[in-house]
Amino acid sequence: MAEDSQVIGYFDIHEIFVAFNQLYFEGKLERVTVEWSKRMTLCAGLCECCVVNKSCRIKLSEPLLLWRPITDVVDTLLHECIHAYLFITDSITDRDAHGRDFVYHMNRINREAGSHITIYHSFTEQVEYYRQHHWKCTKCDWVVKRAMNRAPSFKDPWWNIHQRRCDGQFYKVKQPPSYKKRSLGMLPLETYFSK
Ligand SMILES: [Zn+2]
Ligand SMILES: [Zn+2]
Repeated sequence: MAEDSQVIGYFDIHEIFVAFNQLYFEGKLERVTVEWSKRMTLCAGLCECCVVNKSCRIKLSEPLLLWRPITDVVDTLLHECIHAYLFITDSITDRDAHGRDFVYHMNRINREAGSHITIYHSFTEQVEYYRQHHWKCTKCDWVVKRAMNRAPSFKDPWWNIHQRRCDGQFYKVKQPPSYKKRSLGMLPLETYFSK
C-alpha cells in the first residue's frame, strides 16, 4: 500500500483509512482499497463493490477535494467507507443506498468522530440542501438562497449591483419545513427594508 499511496499536501489518505477501519469499522474493511481519481468530477467519492470476491474500491475525486478543507476529505472518505462496510458485512437490509442502515452508521460515526458525514455525494447537492431560505426579487425574479435566515440587504456585496439595474425588492418565498417562525422569520416585505 505504501508505494501507491498518494498524498495531497501532508495528508495521506491510506494512513487515515487504516485508522478509520480500526476505529469505526471493526477492522472489517480489509478488502477495501482507496485511491484518488483525477477524472472523477461529478461526485466527491465513489465506492465500487465487487460481488465476486466481496471487495470494494473507494475512489476520491482529486479535482473536487484537492482545494477543500481536510474535514471534507474525511467526511467523504467515511461516507464511502460506510457503503463498503454495509456491502462487506451484508448488513444492508433496506436496499436503499442511503437508507436506514446507512443513516444509522452515519449518525454513529458522526457522534464518535465528530465528523459531518451526510447522505450526499456532491458538495453542490449538500450546499443546496442547506440553503433553504429563499428570497425572490419582485421585479427581476432573482432568487437568493441561504443557509441562514438572513434577508438580502445592503450588507451583501452584490446589493448595489442589483439596485443599479433593478428597483425590485426581495421577499421571502421559501424556508425549511421545520423552521419555527420567530419574530424575524416571515415579516412583511417592508420590514426588511426599514432596518
Ligand atoms: Zn453514498
Ligand atoms: Zn431585481
